[in-house]
Amino acid sequence: MKSLKCGEAVTRPHEMDELLERVWTQREQGYENRSSLLENTPIEEGERWLQALANEKLIRIQGENVLLTPAGEKEASAIIRRHRLAERLFADVLKTSEAVWEREACELEHPAVLTEEAVSAVCSFLGHPPTCPHGRPIPHGPCCSEFKRDIAPFVIPLSEASVADHYKIVFMTPENHRRLDRLAVLGIMPGGLIRIHQKKPSYVIQCGETDVALDAEVVRDIYVKKV
Ligand SMILES: [Zn+2]
Ligand SMILES: [Zn+2]
Ligand SMILES: [Zn+2]
Repeated sequence: MKSLKCGEAVTRPHEMDELLERVWTQREQGYENRSSLLENTPIEEGERWLQALANEKLIRIQGENVLLTPAGEKEASAIIRRHRLAERLFADVLKTSEAVWEREACELEHPAVLTEEAVSAVCSFLGHPPTCPHGRPIPHGPCCSEFKRDIAPFVIPLSEASVADHYKIVFMTPENHRRLDRLAVLGIMPGGLIRIHQKKPSYVIQCGETDVALDAEVVRDIYVKKV
């Protein structure tokens, strides 16, 4: 890869980014083999791009296995981060259909399209969400761990909301769908208006006309913005 000058973005063929993304998501699912990496992919000439990634020292091909090198790890993590944050933005804030946000996220994941600065702004704006709408983890960026946040986040976890203010639910990140269904029955779902009555000794939330008591663990999964 070329060394970068100021104002110059990394230009890498999209096929290489897509493959790096696939190596990462495959590993997330617990496998690393080369044949499944190139199976069912719209990427043409997969073998050639795989070789190009190996030449750039972003992956290591070991027999049937494809592994990320430390440099590849860094690049893939940044691609995944951009992709999943874009999914959140399109799904929860812009409220586009799944077909739209899946396509847009794939366009926005490339480094030449979204700069690191723009990615941090989106991440802060969304309140540093831990997962994408599919429930997969979003890799952290420098903005997520900085102690002081210079941009007041637009979306915050409900646990950080103040008592008595009115909020709207933007997205929820429960680890299982059963919990999501249970909350939906209570009217707690994206778009719902919510208010905290008390935080201690336990959370009491007003949602619509009803008051419900929620565990702190559940409250952490609900992301809201002030209305
Ligand atoms: Zn993609
Ligand atoms: Zn996703
Ligand atoms: Zn962040």
